[in-house]
Amino acid sequence: MNIESIGEFGLINRFKDSFNHLVPKDFTGIGDDCAIVPNEKFDYLLSTDMLVENIHFVLNSITPYQLGYKSLAVNLSDIAAMGGEPIGSFLSISVPKGFPVEYLDEFFKGYHQLSETFGVPLLGGDTTKSAAGVAINVTIFGKCPKGEALKRSAAKAGDKIFVTGTLGDSSIGLDALARKASGHHFLDFLIKKHYEPTPRIHEGIWLRNQESVHAMIDISDGIASDLKHVVQASKVSAEIQLNYLPTSYALNEIAEAFEVNPLNYSLIGGEDYELLFTVAQEDADNIRNGFKLRFGEDITEIGVIKEGGNGIVWKMDEEEVEVNLEGFNHFNA
Ligand code: ADP
Ligand code: MG
Repeated sequence: MNIESIGEFGLINRFKDSFNHLVPKDFTGIGDDCAIVPNEKFDYLLSTDMLVENIHFVLNSITPYQLGYKSLAVNLSDIAAMGGEPIGSFLSISVPKGFPVEYLDEFFKGYHQLSETFGVPLLGGDTTKSAAGVAINVTIFGKCPKGEALKRSAAKAGDKIFVTGTLGDSSIGLDALARKASGHHFLDFLIKKHYEPTPRIHEGIWLRNQESVHAMIDISDGIASDLKHVVQASKVSAEIQLNYLPTSYALNEIAEAFEVNPLNYSLIGGEDYELLFTVAQEDADNIRNGFKLRFGEDITEIGVIKEGGNGIVWKMDEEEVEVNLEGFNHFNA
């Protein structure tokens, strides 16, 4: 059997349960954006993410500064997804023989810039030679008040489902690069969203402080895939209005130029690093207004959590539609 036949999540499911008895009762292990390790005063949040050359990035397409920035950004996003405050990071990097030091200097400038923005020190790591290609692994840790992390498993029937920002910008930016598109002034904006995503740390903390916000996840693999994690973990189902998915004017313009349905990006495109969260129905307007007041930005209601099952019903103009496409999943075609 090869790994393509089970995929990334199939693999995780094969070994996950064998560790359960080693996980203390008050810990949260595999299955959320971060593991939760309680301390007397607060909960530690821990997560790790890897970026591999020619899988997650192509060296001559991304700048070294952006690669350094993005390596930390995607990890900070997992802390944001739990409503955590970041504390520190560890960085391991492996490069082939003869790799230019000037490249690495620029890489660390990007990593440092984002570390400054969120006041997160680099506390350690590892440096090794690779047989071929660059691989980067970052481990991030953070904290939040005891028992208050926003888990994927906390969605409740009746909750409204919201997302921050707009969806699909990052993936259409990537597509624009693949197509070597040029000549449109929105392209730079979209490509920047792909290479320099902003982890929603402040927004995550604010949302965690709102009692009516129940479950949260960051959108790294596209909402079709990430919302599935929420409904499965929460043992609920969801109904999504596809025509409510927020897309930027830039995405709409470029998707039209590419003659591609914007949903190909907003629904299954990954790497937006926006937050998807569920809110008790009766408080949805308060959260929407409070978020706008605090951040000057709109959040968008895209659907509702329903009782039972663990599926997602996709609707367009109130009509149920088939969505066969999945978000990004390593090893699945
Ligand atoms: P995210 O997209 O938020 O980074 P993933 O979907 O990659 O999360 O991972 C889902 C869960 O599986 C996480 O809890 C992660 O820590 C865990 N996981 C992924 N790969 C491994 C692995 N090789 N060993 C142990 N746990 C893993
Ligand atoms: Mg995540």
